[in-house]
Amino acid sequence: MKSAVSITLAAVGIVLVIALAVTTAWNRSAAAVAPEVAAGNPFAERTIIDLTYAFNSNTPYWPGDRYTPFKLETIATLEQDGVLSKAISLPEHLGTHLDAPNHFERHPWSVEKIPPQELFGPGVVMDISLKAEQDADAVLTLADVRAWEAAHGPVPDGAVVLLHTGWSRFWTNYARYKNQDAQGKLHFPGYSAEAAKYLVDDRKAKGLGIDTLSIDAGNSPDFPVHHIVNAAGKYGLENVANLGQLPPTGFHVIVAPMKIEGGSGGPTRIFALVAGEGP
Ligand SMILES: [Zn+2]
Repeated sequence: MKSAVSITLAAVGIVLVIALAVTTAWNRSAAAVAPEVAAGNPFAERTIIDLTYAFNSNTPYWPGDRYTPFKLETIATLEQDGVLSKAISLPEHLGTHLDAPNHFERHPWSVEKIPPQELFGPGVVMDISLKAEQDADAVLTLADVRAWEAAHGPVPDGAVVLLHTGWSRFWTNYARYKNQDAQGKLHFPGYSAEAAKYLVDDRKAKGLGIDTLSIDAGNSPDFPVHHIVNAAGKYGLENVANLGQLPPTGFHVIVAPMKIEGGSGGPTRIFALVAGEGP
């Protein structure tokens, strides 16, 4: 009995010592860490640019057979239910979205399996808006990429590469944006296969983005850029907004796709963190 009491007392003592130690460590770390966190704030002195379009019933989407417009339905109201609540439905490849590696290849990474570190990276913007103004079928060539690198230095390893084609000027006019001819062929700019291969294989880009419906040019019959990107385990970003607000280099990108289990892609919030007070 006596020994049972002393064991209990000893146990209580040990618990108290642990509690004190934890509290002290907690206080010490709270006091020590806070200034470091403040000093290392990755968002300090950064301008955050939203590269995402808002979703609504007019939002452009891939014009495939069973694809449908974005739908938002009110399922409860403040007046009747005391709460406002809505339901959404949309194809994965609508509006600003990500194409997962399993979209065009038998890759194990459906959208929710893309490791988070793949979704953060230095950003670069290549610009073919001048030639795309003359030719809707213009593509980013390997020579364009080489010229960009001659001007700005090599594309950093693990970059999120963004292609500015100027196509966002048609965003609110779906017919003009997809630019379908009488034969049903689409006409909008994109990456060439050679440029995509170089960016993915030689420069280890994490993803290729664009301000049109597809990283392949609209008139491409067989989607070589999608195959190159997805076969390498990389992703595409389509209908990316506000690329004209970004510098060619010197910023970071955060890509946040909806975590759809087994999804081939999905609606995605994309942010750019630009050094300084912004444009
Ligand atoms: Zn897509």
